[in-house]
Amino acid sequence: MTKKTDRKTSRVEGIIEDIIGKSPHSKEIITAFKPLFLVRERLIDELHLKAADRSSIDGEKLRQGIPCINQTPFYFKSDPWEKIGCAVLSAIRQGFPALGEDAAKLEGKIKAGDIRLFDAFTDFPGSVETAVGRWSNEADIKPDAIELMLSAVTRIVLQARSNGIGGHIEGMGWEKGTCPVCGAHPTIAVIREKIAQRWLHCSRCGHEWRFSRMFCPGCEQESPSGLDYFYVDDRKQETAFTCDACKRYLITLNHVSDLGDYDRDVSAMGLIHLDLIMQEKGFAPMSRCEWNTF
Ligand SMILES: [Zn+2]
Ligand SMILES: [Zn+2]
Repeated sequence: MTKKTDRKTSRVEGIIEDIIGKSPHSKEIITAFKPLFLVRERLIDELHLKAADRSSIDGEKLRQGIPCINQTPFYFKSDPWEKIGCAVLSAIRQGFPALGEDAAKLEGKIKAGDIRLFDAFTDFPGSVETAVGRWSNEADIKPDAIELMLSAVTRIVLQARSNGIGGHIEGMGWEKGTCPVCGAHPTIAVIREKIAQRWLHCSRCGHEWRFSRMFCPGCEQESPSGLDYFYVDDRKQETAFTCDACKRYLITLNHVSDLGDYDRDVSAMGLIHLDLIMQEKGFAPMSRCEWNTF
């Protein structure tokens, strides 16, 4: 791919090299997702989507557990769906050659106007599933390819649109284990250095929020036996929080410094060996995503 913009190494590229260095076993999966990470970084920077309307986000509703996405629209018919979709599909072709043919078919359908991506977002998240089923049948395209495309498109639009929302809702009293912006469960947690606070990261929209360390984000039960953390080979920084009540786990990075660049999704991918172990032990991930579903 040649770009008009100058080809300086992007922020995410540096982070990816760093994580592959630390977790060589994850090289293959991170390399496959790399074009998707890069296209996300580039589009969020370029699109300048208008942020969601903060004035209609009500603190009282947040306290009742209603996320922002159910209070104000995050998806608009006028968004540049075709542009985002085609850029994402080009990244899928690069990273996932096995889905190349399906990605090309999808691109053709989108450009011809036979598939309108906005249809998947009219009644989110239920409309995503409906769209995957319909497009897969009508156009004979593997559901995997459609799901991968839609999750990447979702993240780009949500992250771009929630610009500034995080700061706006901080301190408004959100106390749930699901994301205050989009309502999804977290894919990774981070215990920050020095102050022992747990922050949860949402891979659907990219938002991070603080959550009690005494409760399970999955079922919101207080852990009676203290909290269990699993780790391997004395690598206590890389753990999996487990909950015996709901039998789910959450990959957790301990005592992480926020100095320097980081990307929680790339970090999570560097720890998929823990996902494998926990799922073998009979635990389910708190949030299923493209890289932790085996
Ligand atoms: Zn979210
Ligand atoms: Zn639980």
